[in-house]
Order: sequence, then C-alpha cells, then structure tokens
Amino acid sequence: NPKLEGDFGEFMGWVDKYRDMKVRTNADTPNDAKQALEFGAEGIGLCRTEHMFFKADRIFQVRKMILAHNKETRKEALDKILPMQEDDFYKIYSLMGERPVTVRLLDPPLHEFLPRGQEEIRTLAEDLNMEIAQVKKRILDLEEVNPMLGFRGLRLGVRYPEISRMQARAIIQAALHCHEDGIKVIPEIMIPLSSDAKELSYVKEEVKDEIEKVFEEKGKKIDYLLGTMIEIPRAAITADEIGEITDFFSFGTNDLTQMTFGLSRDDAGKFLDLYLDKDIFAKDPFQVLDQKGVGFLVETAVEKGKKANPNLHLGICGEHGGEPTTVKYLYGVGLDYVSCSPFRVPIAKLAAAQAAIENPRKK
Ligand code: PEP
Ligand code: MG
Repeated sequence: NPKLEGDFGEFMGWVDKYRDMKVRTNADTPNDAKQALEFGAEGIGLCRTEHMFFKADRIFQVRKMILAHNKETRKEALDKILPMQEDDFYKIYSLMGERPVTVRLLDPPLHEFLPRGQEEIRTLAEDLNMEIAQVKKRILDLEEVNPMLGFRGLRLGVRYPEISRMQARAIIQAALHCHEDGIKVIPEIMIPLSSDAKELSYVKEEVKDEIEKVFEEKGKKIDYLLGTMIEIPRAAITADEIGEITDFFSFGTNDLTQMTFGLSRDDAGKFLDLYLDKDIFAKDPFQVLDQKGVGFLVETAVEKGKKANPNLHLGICGEHGGEPTTVKYLYGVGLDYVSCSPFRVPIAKLAAAQAAIENPRKK
C-alpha cells in the first residue's frame, strides 16, 4: 500500500477523516493505476479499453475483425486478442488489490480503427481472402460523417456482440485468476453510451451469457457488477428503466455536456471563449444554481435510478469528477464516488471533505 508522506500525507490524513464520498481514478494502464494509488485513489472508476486495441500486437486483428464479413473470421481475430486483453486486466487488478475496478467495454468512434494505408489494406485483403476493391468498399461503408454520434459504445456491441463477449470473458477470467492468487476482486463491467433499457439489455444479456459460460468452463463463480454510463440525455430521462437492470450508473459528463448543450466536445474550444467574452454562455455546464444544465439530468437520473433500484451505486467518471465545485455539488446529490485523472485525486478528496463539512447531503 503506497503511503502519502510528509506534511502532504498528514494533511491528506485529515482530509480522509472528514470525507465519506469515495474518490477513484480514471486509469487505462498499470502505470496510471500505480500513479493514482500514490495519490491516494480508492479504486478505478473508469478503465477505457480503446487504447488497448491500438497496441501494435493487436491492431491488425482488430481491423481484420471489423472488416470481416463472417462471424468465424471475426471470432478467430478476437480469439487472438483475448489473452492479451485478459493480461491487461490481470495486471491492473493485481495492482489495485481488492479496490473496485470499473472496466468499460469498447467505446471508440469506429472510424479510428479503419485502416488507411494502401499497404495495410493490401495485407488485410490477402489475409481476409477478399479483393482489395471489396475491402475498400467495406471501409467506405463504415466511414461516418459524424462518428462521435455514430458507431460508438454499445452500438458496437449490438453490431458485433462477439466484441462484448470477448471483453466480458477477459474481465472475468482475469478476475478468476486474481482470486486464485488470493485477491478477491469484484469486477465492475460498464457498458457505455446507453440510451435506453432495451438496447442496454440486448448487450447485457450477451455479456451475462458469456460470463455464465466462463463460470461453467472454470467450475467457479465470483461476484461481479454490471452497470452503464449515463451520458446521453435520453438515458437520464429513462433512468428508472435502466436502473431496474443495472447495478451502477456512472455519469459521463463529457458526452452528457456535449449532448445537453449541443456543442462538440472536440470543437467547443473554437467558439467558447468568444461566448464567454460576450458573457452569453454558461460558465458552468452543470448550471447548479438554476438547474437548467447537466445537473438537472444528473439529479433526474439519480432520483429515477434510486427509486427503481435502491441499491444502485452512483459515480461520475467524466472530467467534471475532478472539479472541486462539481465534486461538492455531486456530494449533495448523493453520489457514492467521483473518478478523475490521477493528478486530480488529492484535490477531489479535499473537495469531498469540505463538502461533508459544509453541505449536508441533499438526498
Ligand atoms: C464521458 O463521456 O464523460 C466519458 C467519461 O467517456 P469518454 O470521455 O471516454 O467519452
Ligand atoms: Mg463518453
């Protein structure tokens, strides 16, 4: 267990004495996880798996899988990725010990995975036993005008359930491996970009079925949680139905802000300053004071979700999870934890302690 040392360590000790909301971290690699532990993180609230798929030893298989026309070829490619993915999770779990780890199923804008170079397209065509023209046509079919609102998150799981199955298997097999080592991890599987309970249950059932298969094959069962991100306004509006079929919600305020305000998270920087200068745009996307922003959707989802499932765990993993004012606000709303980048963990903890002293919980 790494310890914070010196005056800073002593100060954080006081902070922890008054704080009851947990502070986790967003970490995708063992290195991030190690650093976050040094800063006092109490778990991982978001492990994004997208970057793992770009690694040199697997991107070719990923492209093959996306371009393949038949299930068998896709399965073959995924079978090659599975042991690497399992190893990714095993390393992270081992480092985190028995602290909670939320692994998010793949959520890329699909176009980022498409091959570009002629040479790679030729090799892929050969490997897939397809004409180069066929592969190019397939790439064109998969191109999107607006990828951030396209083939992302659980839509990918609906289109390619075998990806969700492979990841669920890797998550559970890695956890079973840890249990054999004496580390009793309870993995948290997070399905991204849900917009309602029906599409979520489609992917959830695939995931559950695969996990049951793993348990049967290994002759051993472990506990796990299955939850989703709330990052599309419709998900917040239908949170009662979603709450009924999930163990936890994690608010994805990066996408939720983008979709609530109708502004691109990647382009907002180009016009936001102008709006701020002219004082015609909200400085605070949560609009905490008048409840007309993201905060309204968060509170709606918390209320509806908790009513449907009183045991629902609640967290946030968007960038706002490390903003002191947001942390304080979310404490009042009743979230169990915030998750932020490793360097923001101490400040989030401080804000959580101040909130506990200054503001009683709203709910
Ligand atoms: C979010 O949308 O807030 C989130 C955490 O997910 P990502 O940034 O990966 O879209
Ligand atoms: Mg998101």
